[in-house]
Amino acid sequence: MEAEIITVGTEILMGQIVNTNAQFISKNLADIGVSMYYQTTVGDNARRLKKVVVDALNRSDVVILTGGLGPTEDDMTKEIVAQVMGYPLVLYEDIAENIKSYFIKVGKEMTLNNLKQAKFPENCIILENKCGTAPGCIMEKKGKAAILLPGPPKELIPMFNDSVMPYLEKINNTKFYSKMIRIFNVGESAVEAGLIDLIHNQTNPTLATYASDGQVTLRVTAKCKNYDEGRELVEPVVNEVKNRFPDGVYSTDDESMEQAVEKLIRKKNLTLATAESCTGGLIASKLVSIPGSSEWFKEGAVTYSNDAKMRRLGVKAETLEKYGAVSEETAKEMAAGIARTSSSDIGISVTGIAGPGGGSEEKPVGLVYIGVSYNGKVYAEKFMLNGDRNRVRNMAAMHALNIVRRELLKNE
Ligand code: ATP
Ligand code: MG
Repeated sequence: MEAEIITVGTEILMGQIVNTNAQFISKNLADIGVSMYYQTTVGDNARRLKKVVVDALNRSDVVILTGGLGPTEDDMTKEIVAQVMGYPLVLYEDIAENIKSYFIKVGKEMTLNNLKQAKFPENCIILENKCGTAPGCIMEKKGKAAILLPGPPKELIPMFNDSVMPYLEKINNTKFYSKMIRIFNVGESAVEAGLIDLIHNQTNPTLATYASDGQVTLRVTAKCKNYDEGRELVEPVVNEVKNRFPDGVYSTDDESMEQAVEKLIRKKNLTLATAESCTGGLIASKLVSIPGSSEWFKEGAVTYSNDAKMRRLGVKAETLEKYGAVSEETAKEMAAGIARTSSSDIGISVTGIAGPGGGSEEKPVGLVYIGVSYNGKVYAEKFMLNGDRNRVRNMAAMHALNIVRRELLKNE
């Protein structure tokens, strides 16, 4: 379904008011998958307004007009649209009564031109105005619809939400079906380069990428008649993306990394504990943010000092002396230590230099070791992360969770 907007008002053309109505309507139509290719602003001039309305009704299914519904001579939107559609206006007695009683209520004299607001074509849909006197209306003809709304946003917005959205959703048979693919540890440009043919050839479904915090989110969206058709269009593209980034894709269900890890831990009925140095509990915090995590997350130790690493995790003094706190050996002993002492199936550890100080030539800022103890195996991976202190910490936590995820997928 295609819709377009006509905003009526010389004030808009002159730059005296900002056309917030058009933005508000466009955003809402985009959300429900109504296509929009034109927006027109026209002044309070009968001849030009008529021309614009004729063109709009020729090319679009739905034309939404705002402004010019008031009582004065320069308010002519309804009269012009009715004329173009060939509908005479008649006085609606009940609306006229409402307008009269409104004036009595506010204690003002009603001038006769106010009754103009009670005139509509005989068979139109009246849209109640809870915040003003001029009702809106929908005029339908030959499968097309003109929707007339008042100019003041405080009248337009509630009318749009209460009456227009339900109407559009009812007549619009196009739906949207989307899947969110989350990719970690592959840059946005690499994702785009790897999918360039899909991106260039896209019509339905379409692909869009967003990058944040070292992750790329790919949205695959199909225009469809129903959910089943949408899934049929989207699934093959999702599978193709998974094939191209087998390690990078960690979720196709709009999940965070910690949720992807949780899913695997629950599936395998395992427990996990963390021993963190430079991340200072960030991994534990991410895991604990998931409701019900107490069923599988046993403990998170923040072992910042060498003393804590020895006392709490059983890291050997010789290891710390010989290799240092930020080393593969220490990461391994930390992971094994937390798994053993907490009786967890999986132990995960992080030790690194988050900066800005504390780096050396041999061990620069951003050097991080992540250790894993699982299934009788203990190993550690080395990372060189860039960015400021918070980014290094956050990326270290993400990598740690990603390592757990990859480890649990190994025997799938
Ligand atoms: P009224 O009964 O107040 O005359 P109306 O439906 O005839 O309402 P207009 O006369 O076109 O509407 O505009 C009335 C006021 O509504 C404008 O002065 C302006 O404050 C606001 N308005 C109109 N159009 C827009 C728009 N496109 N975006 C934002 N505000 C608008
Ligand atoms: Mg007006």
